Amino acid sequence: MFALAGKSVVVTGASKGIGKGIASVFARADANVAVVARNAEQVAACAAELDLLGTGRVIGAVTDVCDPESCTALARTVTDAFGGIDVVCANAGIFPEAPLATMTPQQLDEVLDVNVKGTVYTVQSCLDGLRASSAGRIILTSSITGPLTGFPGWSHYGASKAAQLGFMRTAAVELAPHGITVNAVLPGNILTEGLVEMGEDYIASMTRSIPAGTLGRPDDIGYLAAFLATDEAAYITGQAISVDGGQVLPETPEAVLPLDAATS
Ligand code: NAP
Repeated sequence: MFALAGKSVVVTGASKGIGKGIASVFARADANVAVVARNAEQVAACAAELDLLGTGRVIGAVTDVCDPESCTALARTVTDAFGGIDVVCANAGIFPEAPLATMTPQQLDEVLDVNVKGTVYTVQSCLDGLRASSAGRIILTSSITGPLTGFPGWSHYGASKAAQLGFMRTAAVELAPHGITVNAVLPGNILTEGLVEMGEDYIASMTRSIPAGTLGRPDDIGYLAAFLATDEAAYITGQAISVDGGQVLPETPEAVLPLDAATS
């Protein structure tokens, strides 16, 4: 049960952070994995590192998900290397801060281009491969921010992450006759390179708001993505699933108990 060995998996934004965690879980499950990002050096280093983890092959594919032609080339590269495409994890995303009052059109475009259009282009380019697969799977990395919560300075980001879910629901309906499922993972706060750039104060305040008492790890997202990619998850589609240590649950900050409450 839950076998992923030999599946052909595309993970965008995989040179670091959550995408690397997702790619690493698939590599450990003996899948063939394409590590996708823009920085060629980081892509090559990550692919070489993950290639050691399982019996499948891990390759790098330098791609800008904002560019449809680059995404088409990605699909061709993966199909040539692995003989098809079974799983697409559209994870690449950016989260620069831009308060609403001062947000420029360029800042808005940049976030929508990567997070929304990049998701659509990635999925579109891999459709032929997914249709040919016996169990095509699309897994989007959305966020709790937007679909479930708000945070000052990230209204454009929240809009982009909610837009991914709108896309997911119609794509799930369109692709269901082809046996393809489309689901989204909603990470809470996951300790990645991108999150570290938000600063220590941000991380400390987020940690205090999480009932589990700790930020998540990239692998935590990878484990859900891996399950959604299995043959056994065939009847789950159009769903948004949070992986957040319970972060969205407390009604007040006081409802988050200190960790030592577990012993009292
Ligand atoms: P990260 O550490 O900054 O990594 C982002 C990855 O995306 C890198 O591999 C980056 O490589 C790639 N990327 C960025 N723009 C790209 C483009 N145009 N084309 C291809 N690849 C691109 O970010 P992260 O924290 O892992 O976040 C990953 C995803 O999770 C994002 O969608 C984010 O919104 C979501 N998320 C994260 C958190 C969190 O707590 N970390 C929470 C909720 C949701 P290059 O720059 O070399 O292209």
